[in-house]
Amino acid sequence: MTTVPSAFNQVEQAPPVAVFKLKDDYTADSAEEKINLGVGAYRDANGQPWVLPVVRSIEAQMINDPALNHEYLPISGLPAFCQAATKLCLGSDSKAITENRAGGVQALSGTGALRLAAEFLKRFYNTHVESTVVSYPDPTWANHDAIFRYAGFTDRRKYRYWDAKNRCLDLAGLKEDLLQLPEVSIVILHACAHNPTGVDPTQEQWKEIADVCKQKNHFPVFDSAYQGFATGDPDVDAWSIRHFEKCGFEFFVCQSFSKNFGLYNERVGNLAMVMKDPDSLTRSRSQLELIIRGMYSNPPNHGARVVATALCNPSSLGEWHDNIRTMSARIKQMRKSLHEKLKILGTPGNWDHIVNQIGMFSYTGLNQAQCEFMVKQKHIYLMKSGRISMCGLTEGNIDYFAQSLHEAVTKINENKL
Ligand code: PMP
Repeated sequence: MTTVPSAFNQVEQAPPVAVFKLKDDYTADSAEEKINLGVGAYRDANGQPWVLPVVRSIEAQMINDPALNHEYLPISGLPAFCQAATKLCLGSDSKAITENRAGGVQALSGTGALRLAAEFLKRFYNTHVESTVVSYPDPTWANHDAIFRYAGFTDRRKYRYWDAKNRCLDLAGLKEDLLQLPEVSIVILHACAHNPTGVDPTQEQWKEIADVCKQKNHFPVFDSAYQGFATGDPDVDAWSIRHFEKCGFEFFVCQSFSKNFGLYNERVGNLAMVMKDPDSLTRSRSQLELIIRGMYSNPPNHGARVVATALCNPSSLGEWHDNIRTMSARIKQMRKSLHEKLKILGTPGNWDHIVNQIGMFSYTGLNQAQCEFMVKQKHIYLMKSGRISMCGLTEGNIDYFAQSLHEAVTKINENKL
C-alpha cells in the first residue's frame, strides 16, 4: 500500500501567541514564589479570578427564569444588549442615538467587534482606493495588526504614541504621523486605558487628536476594552468617544465586556456605529448581518443577557458601578503600594509612571534583559516589552515583586549581556 502524505504536510508550525505562551510557562513553573503578570484579566486581593457579584446575582435569577430558553438570537444579537451597550459608550444624551443614526451589532467580544469592523470596512469603506491605510499606535495591543491583516488590509502603519525617554505620550509625534497618513485613513484609537502603555491622552490632547483626524478626514475606530475599568467611572472613561461624536465624526466603537464585567470567556462585545444619517446605518447593518451570517451565523446569548440586564435595571446598574469601582480601586492601590516600595528600596530611576499610568497595565520601562532576569531568575512572568498586569499583584506578593524589580534594575543592564 502506498502511503499518501498528508495534504497538510507542508504546513509550517506557527509561533506561539506570546501572552498565552507566558501563561503556559507560568503554569509549568513549580516555584512557590512565581507570579503571573502577563494575564490581562482581573484578579482579586487573593490573586483569584473574580466573578462580579452583580453577574452572580443576575445569573442566579436567569437559572430560575422559565421565560428563558436556548433559541437562536437574531443575527445581529440581542437588541436590548446592543442598545444598552451603544448607550453606555455614547452616553444617555447622545444626539446620534436620538437621531437614530447610531446603533450596534453584537460581536464576539472586543476582538470580534474589531474583526467585524475590519471585514465591513474592507468591503464598504473608501472602496475606490486600491489600498486604504489602517493605522494604529506604536505600541498597541498585538492583535490589532493581525485582525486587519486577516481582513485583507495590506497597508498597515504605526503612528507614534509612546515617548520611551520620558515615559509619556508622544503627542507631537502622534499628530505628525496622523497628518502624514493619506486622507480618509482608518485610525485605531484606544478609548481609554491604553494597552500596553497605560498612558492616555488628556482631554485637551484628545481635542487636538480629533482636530487632526478631522483635518485629514480620517475614520476613527475606537477600541474600547476597558470602559469603567480605568477610572472606575464609565462616563469618564468614554470622554474621548463622546468628544468625537460632538465633533460630528462618523466612527465605530469596538466594545468589549470582558474586563468591565469579568465575562472573559462569554465573549460579549458590541460594534457601535455612528453615521451621518439613519439610512446609511440601516443599510450598513444589513451588510454586517450578511458578514456575520457567513462567519458564525449569530452570537451567543448568555453574557449579552447578563450585561443587558445589568445596564437596564437601575439597582443592578448601581451594583455594577460598585463592582467596577472595587476593581479599579484595587489596581490603583497596587500602583501606589509598588511606587512606595520602590521609593523605600531606593530603586534607581523615576517610577512616577507607575502611579500616573491608568488601567490594567503598566509599561514598567524594564528592558528585555531585565525582563528575562525577572522570568528566569525570579519566576515573575511578564511580557518582554516590560508590560505588567497590575492585577497580578497582591499584598501577598508585592514585596517580592518590588525587591525583584529592584534587583533587575540594579544588577542587569543590556550592555552586560
Ligand atoms: N482591545 C484591547 C486593547 C485589549 O486589551 C483587549 C483584551 N486584551 C481586547 C481589545 C479584546 O479582548 P476581548 O476579545 O476579550 O474582548
